[in-house]
Amino acid sequence: MAGIYIHIPFCKSRCIYCDFYSTTDESLAEAYVQALCREIRARRDEASSSRVCTIYIGGGTPSRLSPEQLQEILECVRSNYSVEAGAEITVELNPEDVTPEYIRGLRGFNRVSLGIQTFDDDLLSLLRRRHDAATARQAVEGLQEAGIHNISIDLIYGLPGQTLERWEQDLSSAFALHVQHLSAYALSYEQGTPLWRLRREGKVAEAPDELSVEMYRRLCQRAREEGFLHYEISNFALPGYESRHNSSYWAGTAYLGFGPGAHGYDGERTRRANPSDLRSYLSSEDIHPIIEELTTAELYDEAVMCGLRTINGIDLRRLEERFGPEKKAYLLKMAAPHLQSGRLTLSDPHQHQLLSGPSIACSNRILAGGYYHSSAARLRLTESALMVSDSIMAELMWMP
Ligand code: SF4
Repeated sequence: MAGIYIHIPFCKSRCIYCDFYSTTDESLAEAYVQALCREIRARRDEASSSRVCTIYIGGGTPSRLSPEQLQEILECVRSNYSVEAGAEITVELNPEDVTPEYIRGLRGFNRVSLGIQTFDDDLLSLLRRRHDAATARQAVEGLQEAGIHNISIDLIYGLPGQTLERWEQDLSSAFALHVQHLSAYALSYEQGTPLWRLRREGKVAEAPDELSVEMYRRLCQRAREEGFLHYEISNFALPGYESRHNSSYWAGTAYLGFGPGAHGYDGERTRRANPSDLRSYLSSEDIHPIIEELTTAELYDEAVMCGLRTINGIDLRRLEERFGPEKKAYLLKMAAPHLQSGRLTLSDPHQHQLLSGPSIACSNRILAGGYYHSSAARLRLTESALMVSDSIMAELMWMP
């Protein structure tokens, strides 16, 4: 068992770019905590023989619950599952909720993820975020003073009107806070969101591709200069601070998901998704999850996509063990043009070095960080190819 994901579907108000499942009706929060604990208890047999290594409370906005409610959820998990000593236990918080009083009440978490997005007050206001840059800084500093030293912050780049200089200021502000982990995503215009409508009406303009590429390049460069490992396309961490929970998703290990809209995976073939329907979740003990049995071709595609997203790449020996020599040969055939062009690289299993091209794995720091293990040949994206990773992954999918 890799982990447990718990979804908290409440937000104080909706940010204009977001299409995550959440509601602003916070009057349901206490009933929700009880329903969540009911699901957590009811499904205890699904992990009776495994130890839980990571717990992640995400949303929505978990900090719309009180510290006591979060604690109650954690205690429910601990009393129904075998949680490993030293498990990574993360909660997502929004900066405006992180008051000194809130921090004092927060117990049981050893990792915090803060949704900061940008330090530019005008852009925060455009996005309808509820904090400003000063509040974000105070939140980080308050958590640090309280002894939380595994803090991740989220940033978004390619925001409407954001210049390269403003993005560089965001990066400087982020690294000046001495956090251990950074996730940075290009803004996406999700259909049906207010932001998507503003673009359709010509009221905001999408960042040009060249600008987004340059922003990503600067992000990678600054993170490297600050000693961060680029361990996944959008994720950077000081050595030893990679997110264990998210890494287990990319490694294809099992996890349980609780709450409406939460997903789970048994580590073999079966995916499960709870319906995104808070009212029926609260009113019925019977959750009718959507169960999906993955075909071998789908499992192969996931292994390729998830492998290429990370510094570990695709372990070719493991791929052959799972899917047979035919699929490994197919992968190498499809990868050949990209190996030649330097977009992909193949590591030498014995020398722990890369055969061609600079890669996100080519730093001694990474080897020392303990995250990177090379016992078999691995296929990886080079850093210059990360911005076009989607098209490369699509070409490696199983289409004989
Ligand atoms: S971005 Fe976060 S806080 Fe904003 S609406 Fe989405 S889930 Fe809620």
